[in-house]
Amino acid sequence: MHYPKTYDVIVIGGGHAGTEAALAAARMGCATLLLTHNVETLGQMSCNPAIGGIGKSHLVKEIDALGGAMALATDRAGIQFRVLNSRKGPAVRATRAQADRALYKAAIRAVLENQANLDIFQQAADDLVVVGETVKGVVTQTGIRFSTKTVVLTTGTFLGGTIHIGMENHRGGRAGDPPSIALAQRLRELPLRVGRLKTGTPPRIDAKSVDFSVMQAQPGDTPRPVMSFLGSRDLHPEQVNCWITHTNLQTHDIIRGGLDRSPMYTGVIEGVGPRYCPSIEDKIHRFADKDSHQVFIEPEGLNTHELYPNGISTSLPFDVQLALVRSIRGMEHAHITRPGYAIEYDYFNPQDLQHTLETKVIRNLFFAGQINGTTGYEEAGAQGLLAGLNAGLRAQEKEGWYPTRDQAYTGVLVDDLITLGTREPYRMFTSRAEYRLMLREDNADTRLTEKGRELGLVDDARWAAFCAKQEAIAAETARLKATWAHPGSALAARFSELTGQELSRESHLLDLLKRPQVSYAQLAELSPPARPDALQGAGQDAAGQGIAEQIVGEQIEIAVKYAGYVDRQGEEVERLRLQEGLALPSGFDYDAVKGLSNEVRQKLKDGRPETLAQAGRIPGVTPAAVSLLMITLKKQG
Ligand code: FAD
Repeated sequence: MHYPKTYDVIVIGGGHAGTEAALAAARMGCATLLLTHNVETLGQMSCNPAIGGIGKSHLVKEIDALGGAMALATDRAGIQFRVLNSRKGPAVRATRAQADRALYKAAIRAVLENQANLDIFQQAADDLVVVGETVKGVVTQTGIRFSTKTVVLTTGTFLGGTIHIGMENHRGGRAGDPPSIALAQRLRELPLRVGRLKTGTPPRIDAKSVDFSVMQAQPGDTPRPVMSFLGSRDLHPEQVNCWITHTNLQTHDIIRGGLDRSPMYTGVIEGVGPRYCPSIEDKIHRFADKDSHQVFIEPEGLNTHELYPNGISTSLPFDVQLALVRSIRGMEHAHITRPGYAIEYDYFNPQDLQHTLETKVIRNLFFAGQINGTTGYEEAGAQGLLAGLNAGLRAQEKEGWYPTRDQAYTGVLVDDLITLGTREPYRMFTSRAEYRLMLREDNADTRLTEKGRELGLVDDARWAAFCAKQEAIAAETARLKATWAHPGSALAARFSELTGQELSRESHLLDLLKRPQVSYAQLAELSPPARPDALQGAGQDAAGQGIAEQIVGEQIEIAVKYAGYVDRQGEEVERLRLQEGLALPSGFDYDAVKGLSNEVRQKLKDGRPETLAQAGRIPGVTPAAVSLLMITLKKQG
């Protein structure tokens, strides 16, 4: 049957990439279809129910700044919020929330169901209709044909998925879900480079069988952070503790004893696993000298007894899983509700994509999420939003858009993938960004919301809140600049009392904020700001703590204290922008560049960089090699 409606954008897969992709396209006014295996699993968290963390919260806040759903869903579902790296500089601070799995799914589903221009349809997509080199439609498992201008594929771990528990294995997309076999075969017919990766998850534990009294409680932060720029503590459900315990030598002996039945160590699994989220058997093997590893015991939700033991992901046989769990303090009588497992799946080399996430070989076909070799909900969501946006722009016959490395972590993510490719599951870290001070989680809205508005991603309510915040920052900055303290005045005396600092000459408060020992909070106490009209009612929680005022103060403090560093990064960005502007034509002849080593030449041929700056980011391509490319380009130009 041919479905009687033609779509602008069809998104295949209702995970974290797919939901953001579908929402972005629909927000832009595109007729959008979200086609997924199962409506009940929309927004499902396959692994740990936690959002954010180092590098990842930056992506979540960028999704939020561009109107996406992840951050607000986290505020509606988060049962424990913390700021990681809170004692370090603002560039690396990261908000993390433990979420109630069911509440998170419900929050995402509510956004999807209430989104205009978005249809949802439950069924497996088995085939793509490709005419010439352009995708034109999708065919489902029961033969329903959908016509569309563009397709976004976000199939996660499902393509050719194989689940392993010990030496047992079976086909599956994730525990309890079917794999995507027909579509995987169809995609393997396309001229795209395909590989296998693997990831894993720990066994889940019944809290009724756990002794928390011997574990260390880990409460959330006070004051409690919020995830979304539109978030409020009033959205948060009841808050609970997480817990910490440890593996020990007995645990490690049990694991070593089971390695001869490990699918990873007997070579049954060929796919490469996530380096930064290794299985417990991997950790014992790689860090053989360590006697103990931390295990975070995290609740899966408010209305379930299931626990997620973060740190013991494993695909060892079930009897070994049970013994290793029961060797851990506090879990001596633990009951496992779901065994841990590993999953192997197809991914496509992201070097075959453009920065808009459109494939280079099939026009109007976009890929986002785990299919591109990444791991993590946040990485998936950011790509989904970008792919959905670009599919929408294509359908509307507009130029594509993507953020650059100095604009967003999303830009870093996409540029890393497209320029370098990946041979292991890629996750985001702050260390991957060269302009960390510019790309903070706290200023994601300043970096992106205006662009999001222009692209049609940001609705009126978000735009109004953003403008109010910017106005409040400008007004408070002006007030601090206009408030003078004179030596010998009452204000100066109070200043010394509060800060222990002397005032030797007349200064305005903004100037005083430059001093490392002076904080905005002290200045606000010295000379309290009025609550700006524009912020009345915004972000105030039941306890009367004004989130909006805190944020305004924080923004001014960061802007003043880090101005020098940010300016220097800005100059470097300008220098690199010149290189970014120098395009390397697709047929560029690297053999004609004199002085390049064979190794560098090969790397450039494999990487196919689109600009000189991208060439410079390929590992092993030296600044000297970039200069040679520039000379050749200029000669040709
Ligand atoms: P998914 O969330 O997997 O969503 C894919 C969606 O596509 C699903 O809704 C599926 O039903 C649908 N779909 C697939 N094929 C079709 C089709 N043909 N037709 C219709 N619908 C289809 N991340 C970490 O950061 N750390 C970890 O340790 C970690 N461990 C993991 C362990 C396991 C076992 C699994 C399964 C995942 C793990 N993840 C981990 C990864 C995390 O779950 C993913 O990165 C994230 O969910 C990817 O989002 P996605 O949208 O790309 O895909």
